[in-house]
Amino acid sequence: MIFEKSERLKKLPPYLFVELDRKKAEAVAKGVDVIDLGIGDPDLPTPDFIVDAMAKAIKNPAYHRYPSSQGMARFRESAAGFCKKRFGVELDPSSEVCCIIGSKEAIAHFPLAYLNDPEDIVLVPTPGYPVYHIGTLFAGGTTWYMPLTQENDFLPDLDAIPPDVARRAKIIWLNYPNNPTAACAPEGFFTKLIEFAKEYEIIVCHDAAYSEMTNDGYKAPSFLEFPGAKEIGVEFHSLSKTYNMTGWRIGFVVGNSEIISAMKQVKSNVDSGQFEAIQEAAIAALDSDQSCVQDMQTIYQERRDTLVSGLRSIGLEAPIPKATFYVWAKVPEGYTSADFCSMALEKAGLVCTPGNGFGEPGEGYFRMALTVPTERLQEVVERLKKAI
Ligand SMILES: *Cc1c(COP(=O)(O)O)cnc(C)c1O
Repeated sequence: MIFEKSERLKKLPPYLFVELDRKKAEAVAKGVDVIDLGIGDPDLPTPDFIVDAMAKAIKNPAYHRYPSSQGMARFRESAAGFCKKRFGVELDPSSEVCCIIGSKEAIAHFPLAYLNDPEDIVLVPTPGYPVYHIGTLFAGGTTWYMPLTQENDFLPDLDAIPPDVARRAKIIWLNYPNNPTAACAPEGFFTKLIEFAKEYEIIVCHDAAYSEMTNDGYKAPSFLEFPGAKEIGVEFHSLSKTYNMTGWRIGFVVGNSEIISAMKQVKSNVDSGQFEAIQEAAIAALDSDQSCVQDMQTIYQERRDTLVSGLRSIGLEAPIPKATFYVWAKVPEGYTSADFCSMALEKAGLVCTPGNGFGEPGEGYFRMALTVPTERLQEVVERLKKAI
């Protein structure tokens, strides 16, 4: 029997990492010692004190029952406390915080709260995290891409959005520190963004997955720090990268209470919340002195310095990222992104991501994730030097 797939599935772009995984598997099968810098998934374990909090909580029978979809009150208080301590942002844990099963889940579901049909536009950065577009597609809306280019410091040019598009736009997605470009937003950008969103009555969704992954003393701001932000927007936080917890699936959305309430309405009809023992682990992480975050930053900074100076030493153009755990670099003359990444895999056994996989303006770039130890990054440079 052949069941006809829905139009929304047929319209999906090929998932970026499927093709990469296939090529990697081929190389591994041939016995190549592959170094995988493809996916942004930390190689380091979750800190012990977080694992211990879960281990203790898992024995509590109260947690074996259905959780509440919005998250435990104590979890929401911890999330609010974290935002207060880290950003100076005041939040009401009962109306301005919602627990999510990882940011991906929440980003994909969020548009269900506000989109009706293809007339409804969502403004999405490109290159960018693929889920902004996919969530729009699943909710039946239309994506309008905002190119992030080097000339614009990888910030969307809000003035370039035609007014008729802006008027139809319901949601705008932003993500700073940015994946894949590693760009950070200057403060003036958020002020301008808030003005723009208010003028056109657009909900700002800021994806802050990398807010804690910063180097050289840089502290990324929360979008909610800026005047007026809470009137028109929400911010998506994830514990995945900050605490090496990608497998645990937990994060939180904070901000405007009306928008949070709509998000809760969607989620309570789709999922039944995250396992409360995992919420206990997250509480331990958020309430901690954050020294584990500093340790993480030190490790990535060393890796970054090794990789960037190595790439530069072999003639590649790679800026020093002050946030995220990605290096976003130009491919050498004469290569497309795809050519370069294929060459890197075939001749050097390296998995890196072609920039155009995140959207057309990413053509001419490749992304490397700093998810292997420093010695392996030295080897990456050695191998690339021979291959080029
Ligand atoms: C990794 C990442 C996330 C976080 O995903 P989780 O689902 O919380 O693991 C969100 N946004 C971007 C841009 C990311 O790179």
